[in-house]
Amino acid sequence: MLEMLQPTSLSTGLSFLRKLQKLPINTGMKTVLIIDDDRALRGALATWLRGTGWKVLEAEDGDMGLQLASEYQPEVVLCDLLMPRCNGFQVCRAIRQQQNSHPHTKIVVTTGSSYATDRVIAFEAGADEYLLKPIVPSDLSRLLDRITHVNGGKETAPPKSKEKPRQEAARLKFWGVRGSIPTPGKDTVFYGGNTPCVEVRADGEMIVLDAGTGIRPLGLALTSEFGDKPIHLTILITHTHWDHIQGFPFFVPAYNAKNQITMLGYEGARQGLESTVSSQMESPYFPITLRQMPGNIVIQELKDMEFSVGKIGVQAQLLNHPGICAGYRLNTSSGAVCYLPDIELYQPQRQTNATSASDTGVEFASEQDLKLIDFIRDAEILIIDSQYDAQEYKTHVGWGHSCVEDSVKLAIKANVKRMFLFHHDPGHNDEQISRLVALARSVAARFNSTLSIEAAREGLEVALKPKGAAEAVGGAR
Ligand SMILES: [Zn+2]
Ligand SMILES: [Zn+2]
Repeated sequence: MLEMLQPTSLSTGLSFLRKLQKLPINTGMKTVLIIDDDRALRGALATWLRGTGWKVLEAEDGDMGLQLASEYQPEVVLCDLLMPRCNGFQVCRAIRQQQNSHPHTKIVVTTGSSYATDRVIAFEAGADEYLLKPIVPSDLSRLLDRITHVNGGKETAPPKSKEKPRQEAARLKFWGVRGSIPTPGKDTVFYGGNTPCVEVRADGEMIVLDAGTGIRPLGLALTSEFGDKPIHLTILITHTHWDHIQGFPFFVPAYNAKNQITMLGYEGARQGLESTVSSQMESPYFPITLRQMPGNIVIQELKDMEFSVGKIGVQAQLLNHPGICAGYRLNTSSGAVCYLPDIELYQPQRQTNATSASDTGVEFASEQDLKLIDFIRDAEILIIDSQYDAQEYKTHVGWGHSCVEDSVKLAIKANVKRMFLFHHDPGHNDEQISRLVALARSVAARFNSTLSIEAAREGLEVALKPKGAAEAVGGAR
């Protein structure tokens, strides 16, 4: 019966014993309760824990485990999930229901189940940790150390790397350039179908602009680049429309405790940044909650419109777009990078709705757009919403996005060096986007402007040079 429910494992127990290393002795004589119907594994665990200074209690099923937990109030409970009489989820819940009598007990679920959903349910049931079998002694030792530490078991951020930041060349890379919704398929393969995400590396910092679905391939690339080294990065969120945050649950570095991820953004129109980002990960939508992501993730709501990320001074401006939406200007030592992925210029919107030529709304709108020109003035790089052409814009006034013609004129007035059309319409195929680039260049030519214009595309990497114009250093497609 026991074997049917929990197939193992004399061999698991023996291999655990074989793996025992000379690990540090716990001198505090704390009590640990092992609830597991696998006698061999339980015995091996008990022997090792006693050898490292723990007082050990053993239970072969959930009922017995609950009795011992209630009687001895151990510091730690190691609890299997699939057990007769009372399964591990029930044990967790029962211990937590008696919270008053077990205020300090840490519950570590030890299980062979690697299903994400079991992990989630275990945490919901009250588990503090989830350890996958086979148990590696050194992992268990570290975990016990951490959760019984004097800080009350709170996870601490990994120490900052003492390595000097690598002095790598400043650059940016586009990982997601599409607006509104991902658009995979043969018609979008050149410019790409992932929603907004741009990586900027400058002055020893890594800044990620937005967390659309493009952040997924970025996460995979960072994981292979950094290997065992910790990743430190800052994500700047412009706003919480879904296309700008929907990739975060799939950002692999957020699942590793060695990584430090700071997410910054402004409070939304209806609710705070953290609650918006976390609510897309709640159980009806996703199996892991934000709180359960093991990475060191700090979400901070910005109040000021000027702040810094390391040595990079950042300015923000709230833009004309439904809800609260910021644009960012990163003042790097290699020039300014301005990122305005979602914006509808005030004047074109008001002008369309104006009832007369002397409409004061139009005047107000012009003033607002002038402020925007100041905000992006002399930028080395401008990444800007250019979703439509003028004809398409006529039927999309008030949707919160701009047309190519207006974006180009704005960039010229602001003396921008290099501009990337961004937030491509999900309805535009590669050919249509290429036509928009040609249209944008013809507008610049009409104004005798030297503005360099391209459409942002996935995989395109742009070098930022301390002096002069930036130049492309490659790009997969
Ligand atoms: Zn958007
Ligand atoms: Zn938006």
